[in-house]
Amino acid sequence: MNILVVSDVHANLVALEAVLADAGSVDALWNIGDTVGYGPRPCECLDVMIDREANPALVGNHDLACLGRLNLAEFNPVARAAAEWTAVRLSPEHRAYLSDLPPLTTAHGYTLAHGSPRAPIWEYVTSASLATANFPHFDTDVCLIGHTHVAMYAELSPHRAAADVRPFQDGETLDLSSARFLVNPGSVGQPRDRDPRAAYAILDTERRAITAHRVEYDIRATQLQMAQAGLPEVLIQRLAYGT
Ligand code: ZN
Repeated sequence: MNILVVSDVHANLVALEAVLADAGSVDALWNIGDTVGYGPRPCECLDVMIDREANPALVGNHDLACLGRLNLAEFNPVARAAAEWTAVRLSPEHRAYLSDLPPLTTAHGYTLAHGSPRAPIWEYVTSASLATANFPHFDTDVCLIGHTHVAMYAELSPHRAAADVRPFQDGETLDLSSARFLVNPGSVGQPRDRDPRAAYAILDTERRAITAHRVEYDIRATQLQMAQAGLPEVLIQRLAYGT
């Protein structure tokens, strides 16, 4: 089974459509969360997840904030402004859909967590030490994570005490049968690894392999939608730099 794995779409429909086109025919869509927040097309991105029957689909911290289920005081001012903008645009159906999603689950022998397996809403796995500390918190060999918007993987080889963390680069394929892994496909809608292209991964469950992909999208189109929506300028600008 070939599975398209996306995370942190953040209401960037232009980027999401570029990813869907680039990935082509797949057997399933898995979504690691933060489908909304920051970007200009929250309802349309949720409709893609509903129509394409993304399963598993997770809820992320921004999704919860837009539902009013996280304290917005924990957010920086621009993230809060975008969450408030999003909250009033979600239909009851979109709210119900998001409300039913977990932040952590397992499927086909893989764990999925928005942030991390030990703290799925909030923890950012940004270092080897944080990755190493998370391996005892899931039972499968592989855990797919998002939240940092940085495509990366942590590899814990047999008989090693500490994980190695590396960028997960465009076109790179990991053999998931050789070790335990935490894998972050990066962000579709707001990459922060200084590569502004949309990020995603393809998981091949038969080969037990996962491949990183980047695809260019019309960043200007999303920026224009954001400007027309009155979303914060800093959020508009960062898309061009991948920061
Ligand atoms: Zn996010």
